[in-house]
Parts: sequence; C-alpha cells; structure tokens
Amino acid sequence: MRPILPPTRAERVTATGNVRVEPFDEYNRALVAQVHPPGWVNPVAAGRYHLVVLGAGTAGLVTASIAAGLGARVALIERHLMGGDCLTVGCVPSKALIAAARSWQAAAESSRTFGGPDISGQGDFAAVMARMRRLRAGLSRIDGASRYRDLGVDVFLGEGCFTAADTLEVGGQQLRFRRAVIATGAREAVPPIPGLADAGYLTNDSVFGLTELPRRLVVLGAGPIGCELAQAFARFGSAVTLLDQADRVLPRDDPDAAAVVARRDAPARPALACA
Ligand SMILES: Cc1cc2nc3c(=O)[nH]c(=O)nc-3n(C[C@H](O)[C@H](O)[C@H](O)COP(=O)(O)OP(=O)(O)OC[C@H]3O[C@@H](n4cnc5c(N)ncnc54)[C@H](O)[C@@H]3O)c2cc1C
Repeated sequence: MRPILPPTRAERVTATGNVRVEPFDEYNRALVAQVHPPGWVNPVAAGRYHLVVLGAGTAGLVTASIAAGLGARVALIERHLMGGDCLTVGCVPSKALIAAARSWQAAAESSRTFGGPDISGQGDFAAVMARMRRLRAGLSRIDGASRYRDLGVDVFLGEGCFTAADTLEVGGQQLRFRRAVIATGAREAVPPIPGLADAGYLTNDSVFGLTELPRRLVVLGAGPIGCELAQAFARFGSAVTLLDQADRVLPRDDPDAAAVVARRDAPARPALACA
C-alpha cells in the first residue's frame, strides 16, 4: 500500500503567502501564529543596517539577538518559519518523539524487568504526535517574530535575495547593510536510488507531520538522526530497517560508542536491523 505522505515544504505556502504546517490543527496554527504570523507587516527598512541576517533558524536567531543586544541595528529575514529546522523539523520534534518512545519502551519492559503490570496492545501514535505539536507550539514564542521585534530586531518575513554587495531585497524593499550573515541552513539530500521517487519517501521535513504510524519504515542513513528516528519508530511499533553505506551505525563516531548503540535494539518490538 502506498503511504500517504505529508506535503512538501513548497506546498505548504498558500496562495496568499501564508504558511501552513500539516496537520493544520490548533497546535500548528499556534506555532505559525508565532513564527510566521499571518498578516505580519514588515517594518519600513531603517536606513543602513549594521547587520542583516538571512535566515531565522538557530544560527540566524542567535546572531540577530546578540548583535541587537550589543546595540547594532539588525534586520532578520525569514521566508518560512522562524526557528528553522531545530524548532519545526529537527531537535524539538525529534526529542519529543524520543521521550515518548522511551516511555513506551519502559512501560513494555516493566513487566519483564521489574514485575510491573503486563502491557499489551497498541499505543496511540496520533496522541504522541499531537503532544509533540503541542509542546512545539508552546516553545515557539521564544523564536517568534514578536519576541524578536521586542528585542530590537527588524523582522522581515519573505524571501531575501542579494541585489548588490551591500543590498538585500525582501518583500519589495531594499535593505542596505554594512555586514551580512548568511544563515540559510541546509536541505535534505535525496540519494539517487532507483525507484525511490516513485515509491515516495519522507524526510525530516515531512516525517513530523505524520499522524499514523507507518507499519514498515526504512531509514536511510545511520548517523545520529537516523539512529534516533529508527529507534523511536521501532519502539512505537514500526518494523524498522536502518541502512547505511558504511559498515556500522554512527560511522563518524567512536567505534566503541557506536557498538553500544548498535547492540541496543527494541525488545518486545520489531528489532532494528543494520545492513
Ligand atoms: C531530525 C533532526 C534532529 C536534530 N536534533 C538536533 C539536536 O538534538 N541537537 C542539535 O544541536 N541539533 C539537532 N539537529 C540539527 C539542527 O536542527 C540544525 O543544526 C539547525 O537547525 C541548523 O540551524 P541553522 O540556523 O543553521 O539552519 P536552519 O534551521 O535550516 O535555518 C535556516 C533558515 O533560513 C531560511 N532561509 C533559507 N533561505 C532563505 C532566503 N533566501 N530568505 C529567507 N530565509 C531563508 C529557512 O527557511 C530556514 O528557516 C537536528 C536536525 C534534525 C533534522
């Protein structure tokens, strides 16, 4: 059965330029209201900025707030969601899933190890994801447009592009600057595997939009992010296969430490396989 995949990032910008994050429930509305507020009016560019920061992910936010705190005139430009990957499709949602998966695992092990009550049956994956969205929305004010405006940063929502060595255009305005920081982050790299595009695939950009647990999941890449997602989904009950072109998990990490992770499967749940 072909999985129903959440829409890509590009499909989530509506015709009016507002941003949707799927599923567009009360939590994701609250998230967007902070980090890409509908109806946000960009300030009028204030002369020549000491600093413009392109991209309001972790790097851009920290740069902008420190510079503004030191008294610089700062413009921060974001085309999608302030907070970037870390808040929306990285650290925050993945840690929420890991915490839930660890708790499920502890519950499943409690009978065998600690004489706890027998746990059987399926958990509620949709509730795990809703909790994640709730927590993410709750944190989003910290990265939000209003907060940064209150910190003294001129926040511009829109696609920024350089038009001269000292000028950046956003939303029809030319922002002149003395210095610029490019903090535009990274995008997923899709490996050229025959059939992958036809089969459909998730990336970190879409996996946190799931509301149903995939029955089977192949995770390509056994670095820290691949390992943590593979383990979490295995603990939720997906049959997970973790693949890497290297001959072990965590190929960039210490081999002894990686061996500990490789041995740590998910008892009482489908085991992780490393190929
Ligand atoms: C699943 C997962 C889990 C992770 N867990 C952790 C963790 O536990 N701890 C940790 O330290 N790191 C973690 N990371 C890594 C962390 O998310 C990234 O290192 C971090 O988000 C990078 O921040 P950044 O500001 O460089 O880029 P991004 O967060 O990618 O921000 C770049 C921003 O620039 C914007 N942008 C790009 N081009 C333009 C343009 N032309 N105009 C306007 N805006 C533009 C983008 O929309 C984006 O918001 C994780 C990553 C993933 C995927």
